[in-house]
Amino acid sequence: MRGLMQERPLLISSFLTFAATYHQDREIVSRLVEGSLHRYTYAQAEERARRVANVLKGLGAKFGDVIGTLAWNTHRHLEVWYGTSGSGLVCHTINPRLFPEQIAYIVNHADDKVLFIDLTFVPLVEKFADKLKGVRHFVILTDRAHMPQTSLPDALCYEELVAQASPNFAWPDFDENTASSLCYTSGTTGNPKGVLYSHRSTAIHSMVANNADAFGLRSVDAVLPVVPMFHANAWSIPYGAPMAGAKLVMPGAALDGASVYNLLETEGVTMTAAVPTIWLMLLQYLEKEEKTLSTLKRVVIGGSAAPRSMIDTFQEKYGVSVCHAWGMTEMSPLGTLGTLKAGMDTWPKEKRLDVQCKQGRAVFGVDLKITDDDGKELPRDGKAFGHLMVRGPWIANAYLKGEGGNILDENGYFDTGDVATLDPEGFMQITDRAKDVIKSGGEWISSIDLENAAVGHPSVAEAAVIGIVHPKWDERPLLIVVRKAGKDISREEMLDFLVGKIAKWWMPDDVVFVDELPHTATGKLLKTKLREDFKDYTLPTAQTAAE
Ligand code: ADP
Repeated sequence: MRGLMQERPLLISSFLTFAATYHQDREIVSRLVEGSLHRYTYAQAEERARRVANVLKGLGAKFGDVIGTLAWNTHRHLEVWYGTSGSGLVCHTINPRLFPEQIAYIVNHADDKVLFIDLTFVPLVEKFADKLKGVRHFVILTDRAHMPQTSLPDALCYEELVAQASPNFAWPDFDENTASSLCYTSGTTGNPKGVLYSHRSTAIHSMVANNADAFGLRSVDAVLPVVPMFHANAWSIPYGAPMAGAKLVMPGAALDGASVYNLLETEGVTMTAAVPTIWLMLLQYLEKEEKTLSTLKRVVIGGSAAPRSMIDTFQEKYGVSVCHAWGMTEMSPLGTLGTLKAGMDTWPKEKRLDVQCKQGRAVFGVDLKITDDDGKELPRDGKAFGHLMVRGPWIANAYLKGEGGNILDENGYFDTGDVATLDPEGFMQITDRAKDVIKSGGEWISSIDLENAAVGHPSVAEAAVIGIVHPKWDERPLLIVVRKAGKDISREEMLDFLVGKIAKWWMPDDVVFVDELPHTATGKLLKTKLREDFKDYTLPTAQTAAE
């Protein structure tokens, strides 16, 4: 028997029309790429998104066409998001930090018809514009006064198009399973692969992300997504904020400590989210300038493991509670969040930090399991570690155009490529990427655990651990360290610091110091490059073992 409830489709346009109706005066504040601060309301954003829908219609876009963006988090980018998805087009947010050849590849692979480009990225697109096969229009996200000299053919001015377009547009109804947006994985190995979200998956994911134990967004909040809209949908905040009626603060291109601090304070931000690199810059700024955070209550840290010292500093020194989160592009992106369970807030500090350093527990809707190499499920005892597998209504079923073939196991689980433990309380801890784990004498050593322990030293800015070939043990860990500016630390001091913090047999066989570490387009350590750089490295212990 079918239920007798209204089958209204879950559509992205409704997030913004809701905010424009019930929170019409709530603000969206953006730091523009041109430098100034822009401020308007949800009602105005929705009206301009309707104009954008008409602009696209006028440019010949048809239902289902893919429209690309190369843009920072600003109100204009937001209007393009809603103007495209809301009118049945697919919004393809492109990560401008990818190599130019990769960007050209994905624009062609996705068959983008129009590109919306921030001023900052015009020179980048000029480099490969002649290789783009299907792009019919280039729209520069600025006003007439700031239009650049460009070799892009017939470049259009966004503000002019919006001003000329009619606001008369009725957001259409259609099947909620229609594609809404597209985001490519960064493709650290091989070509990037497209993850194609639907209106339904986006709506359910955003509602869950707003839950109290997740981002907990409310109408009284002001939220600053520092994480870019081209990085897994800014973790869904530009969807969740209008759903909640929260004030939305967009940082534009200025992601340095001073600029982020400035917005946090002047806009009364209560919640913010980004990768650890951003928080490292903010914390260094706060320390140097002796500043405090007067309105911020919660910070979400994800994308890479949040170091213990970072969680501790936010909480103890600045009174901001940290929620460590894990997810991936293929998961829209949320999988787990580290909000404490009943009673844990009264635990002794170090025990509480142990839990907060884990990547968190599954939100409702995500099934998690860990398996061995044969696909057999491993116990949830917090000790066994294996391949982390996930299933749920906002997790990819396949990549765009069938790239990578069948990506699910026989029970519908997707292999995240992460290696993790699950504890009896449900908290998951990533111990490594499957390809980064160090295999020493048949046992696995977690490179992430070693890195986290090393960055706990006050003189260490960043650390990476990779496996180096060893004649006796197959692989042994090499610790690569970037010192903090003006700080000194020797190899011996580093190794001494690790004693007692890690299992004895995990102790790195050597330490090297470098000026900087390579990162991927989404700010993660680029281990493939490090392995390449150190492929001829001989560990001191290898010589002894060989003698
Ligand atoms: P990209 O490959 O484009 O950088 P994602 O942002 O989708 O893509 O990266 C997802 C991966 O990032 C996860 O599979 C995991 O390895 C890593 N990751 C995300 N959050 C965390 C976290 N809190 N701790 C450790 N690793 C994380």
